[in-house]
Parts: sequence; structure tokens; C-alpha cells
Amino acid sequence: MLEETLETGFAAMGLRADARALGRFRRYYEALEETGRVMNLTAIHGEEAVARLHFLDSCAPLQRYALDGARVIDVGTGAGFPGLPLKLLCPGMELTLLDSLAKRLGFLRALCDELGLTGVETVHGRAEVPGARRERYDFALSRAVARLNLLCELCLPYVRVGGRFLALKGPGADAELAEAGRAVETLGGRVEGVFPYALPGGDDDHRLVVVEKCRPTPRTYPRKFALMKKAPL
Ligand code: SAM
Repeated sequence: MLEETLETGFAAMGLRADARALGRFRRYYEALEETGRVMNLTAIHGEEAVARLHFLDSCAPLQRYALDGARVIDVGTGAGFPGLPLKLLCPGMELTLLDSLAKRLGFLRALCDELGLTGVETVHGRAEVPGARRERYDFALSRAVARLNLLCELCLPYVRVGGRFLALKGPGADAELAEAGRAVETLGGRVEGVFPYALPGGDDDHRLVVVEKCRPTPRTYPRKFALMKKAPL
């Protein structure tokens, strides 16, 4: 059952979801399944799989960083991962959910309203156009959006100096990082570490890549997406 998987999983991760958070995770799961019948939200289905691979995985950064009270942006959030599960465990977080697909943001907006969450902004737009959100966040997070060399250019401009960019990755993270060294440096970052983690109840292999923002990102970045792809940093 969803609640049991979450309670034991969070406990194994040194985290805790109270009764209100568990109720919200339940409604989030139901909404994913209901709306998923008419809209492409996720390929992962079933209580056990959604609990582990979406909800527990999204919350892994809390094993290293306290996000309650922090300003956080989730770049390419899709159906809300990792931002929304983090918000359910840290209600005091100021969260921006950003995606270029309006339908998914409509789903997230309605869900956040139904759950009575405050401090969540849903933004329809391209990550490479940060506008007034530039250098405004304590943390930028992203999962399953692009390889690290591109992802750094999409995410680091949002982070204030002294803040961090966290990428939730798989076992290929080290190889991706090897090709992203120049991007990290050019965009004002410094690799703080690549931290392996496992999800309770499985043997899958995950990595949290952490980049600290040391200097402002030059105003010439991010570039247009086509250029980023054609000539990655
Ligand atoms: N982060 C979610 C997860 O882990 O399940 C969603 C991953 S999904 C594979 C990638 C998402 O990133 C999509 O919803 C897509 O619309 C969004 N995306 C890709 N490139 C983007 C960009 N340049 N700006 C904003 N959103 C983008």
C-alpha cells in the first residue's frame, strides 16, 4: 500500500511524513492515475512503483539539504517531480514548478489548489528564458530533463550565488559530469560532489549531483536551446 511504502521508506531515509502529508501523497497518487488516463503524465503506475520511483526518489535531496523555508525551482517538473513531493514534506518551502507543457502545469495547479498548498507557483515557459527569476533561488532542482552539460545551462542561471543546483541522476552521472566540466565553470559553478543513494526496497542505483554557485552566471547564458544543443559548453 502507498502509505506503508512511504512510511517505511521515509523512515529508512531518516525522513518523516506526518498524517497530513500522507493524505496529500494519497490524493497526488489518485490524481496521477485519474488524469493519466486522459493526459500523458508518467509511464510509472501502481502504488508501490509511484511511491518508490516518484515520491521517495524526489525526496532524496532532503537526506543532505534542509529545504523548508528555502526558495526552490524545479526545472522541467513534468507531473511535479521532484518539486511537489519535496513540498509535501517541507510545507514552508517557496516552490516554483516550471515546464514548457501547459497541460501538465494545469494539472499541477489544480492539484496544488485542491491540496490547499500555499507558496507554490506554476510557470509555463522555457527554462532557457529565466527573465526576472534569474539568480533568485536557493536551489534549482531537476530530474530526467537533459544531460548535465545542457542542464547546467538551463538551471544554474536561476541559482543565487551561494545557492546550489541539484540534479537527480542515474548511474551515468559520472560520465555526464566528465563532459560538463566546462559548462559548470563557465556558468559560475563548482562541483560539490556526486552522492550515490539507494531507494529503500530496491537495488536501483541513483546519484545526486550537486553544483554550488560561486559567481554570477554571465548574462550571455542561457543561450537559445537550439544553440545549446548544437554547441554545448
Ligand atoms: N522532472 C519530471 C520527472 O522526473 O518525472 C519530468 C521529466 S520529463 C521526461 C521532462 C520534462 O521537462 C517535460 O515535462 C518537458 O516538457 C520539460 N522540459 C524539457 N525541456 C524543457 C525546457 N527547455 N524548458 C522547460 N521545460 C522543459
